[in-house]
Amino acid sequence: MKRVAVIGGGLGGMTAAGELARLGHAVTLFERGHSLGGKAQLLGEGAVPVDVGPTLLTLPHVVREGFRRLDAEDLLPRLIELEHQSHTRFHDGKTFDVWRDLERTVASAEALQAGEGEAVRRFYAEAAEVHRAAGEPYLDAPFEGAFEYLTRVARRGLGLLWKGSRLGTLQAFAEACFKSPHLQKFAGRFATYAGASPYEASAAFALVPHIERAFGVHHVEGGMGALSAALAKALARLGVQTRLGVEASWQPWRTGFAVGPTSDQTHYDAVVVNADPLASLGREHERLALSGYVLLLDAPDVKLPHHAVSFAADYAAEFQALFEGRVADDVTFYVCHAAATDPSMRVAERSGLLVMVNVHPLVYGADFATLGPKLRARCLAHVRELGVRDARVIGERTPVDFANAGAPKGSIYGFLPHGRFGPFRRPRIRSRTRGLFYSGGGTHPGGGVPLVMLSGHFAAQLAAESLGAGA
Ligand SMILES: Cc1cc2nc3c(=O)[nH]c(=O)nc-3n(C[C@H](O)[C@H](O)[C@H](O)COP(=O)(O)OP(=O)(O)OC[C@H]3O[C@@H](n4cnc5c(N)ncnc54)[C@H](O)[C@@H]3O)c2cc1C
Repeated sequence: MKRVAVIGGGLGGMTAAGELARLGHAVTLFERGHSLGGKAQLLGEGAVPVDVGPTLLTLPHVVREGFRRLDAEDLLPRLIELEHQSHTRFHDGKTFDVWRDLERTVASAEALQAGEGEAVRRFYAEAAEVHRAAGEPYLDAPFEGAFEYLTRVARRGLGLLWKGSRLGTLQAFAEACFKSPHLQKFAGRFATYAGASPYEASAAFALVPHIERAFGVHHVEGGMGALSAALAKALARLGVQTRLGVEASWQPWRTGFAVGPTSDQTHYDAVVVNADPLASLGREHERLALSGYVLLLDAPDVKLPHHAVSFAADYAAEFQALFEGRVADDVTFYVCHAAATDPSMRVAERSGLLVMVNVHPLVYGADFATLGPKLRARCLAHVRELGVRDARVIGERTPVDFANAGAPKGSIYGFLPHGRFGPFRRPRIRSRTRGLFYSGGGTHPGGGVPLVMLSGHFAAQLAAESLGAGA
């Protein structure tokens, strides 16, 4: 049995801690906050239940497999697949709906603009190819270098290697698929799942709509916070020692590491760091992915779909502003109303709403004490337009809050994967220091609930191998 420290109790760190404990190691998990789950939390007790961070779950099999590896399938909340995946409104009043059933999505696109029904079919077929060419090999194993990666691509066929090497930007992909500028925006928005711009991110991000089509869009019963709570129970059952409210640091020491609060560090054989790795790698000056402004509301009689997006008229101008450190006058809103699917998220005829707008991280000297109230007013005006009356503000998050919780300059996803080879420059899970590994949204394969759980799994695998080799 070896001693392993995990620093950070987000979903990536928790997954790594659980798997290493399951393999028989003595694991201590340090979390500087007062609960586990990191960004995946429900708003505090007493309020109507509403997630303050992630809301939409893709790749449910990754989560199921994660719980299975911890012998904790009995703890996993129900993952409910949405029939109606999203409702999108455009500036001119047109709408587009995505359904589990492709034919209904095709009909919605056709109603939006004649001919675009067939374009939707081609879009998803192309996106599936992108996933085979770039997505599967990227998610299959930890990224340890171009050679291993290209070997995994080539094993799927040399045609895919060729296809992968020719991918342009996501926006160019969207324009090649759709004539309708409305549907181009719909396709481009998937870059924001990594806090990136469709105009600069690779078309490899087309794997996201494919994943949503192929594996469904899911809701965790009770909210994403329930997933964090279930993982916390699984860790307790596996004997992981959790130290809440402890900010830990690490440094190489004897044959391993000294880890813990500065005043009380002890020896560990290996460390998995779930905090963002850019600073510890000396890469803190790199461009960062977007942050978000989040407003949490409690409202009566809400009749909204689960996931709704309202696009700005000029999406390109919105991104230009964001990467210049401004928020455009006309912005895109995302509204999540989980009670549309899950009655347990409704209390006494009231339900919670999460309203989110993309904003820049704190690298441009932005003053969120001034900007925050303006964004709050715009979000409130937006939900009134959607027909929501008497909404009460129950919470708010700005990049300042995300930064205080450890996100680099408040950037939700940290590393910015712009450019054709952007995703390959992401900090790797295995560090150059023997016995030190990273997990979470700042490392491979990237942010998002299933991906950080994958990173935790890969980190645990690599750490276990290195411990077996007597690190
Ligand atoms: C508003 C919002 C909406 C989102 N929407 C979605 C969505 O719909 N679907 C989706 O899949 N994803 C979404 N995401 C992204 C997703 O939430 C994250 O990618 C994921 O939860 C990050 O997990 P992580 O393992 O990187 O850890 P994090 O959640 O980043 O947690 C890291 C933890 O480490 C702790 N820590 C850091 N340094 C130390 C230290 N030195 N000592 C001790 N503890 C430390 C922090 O306190 C924190 O708890 C969203 C995120 C946000 C903020």
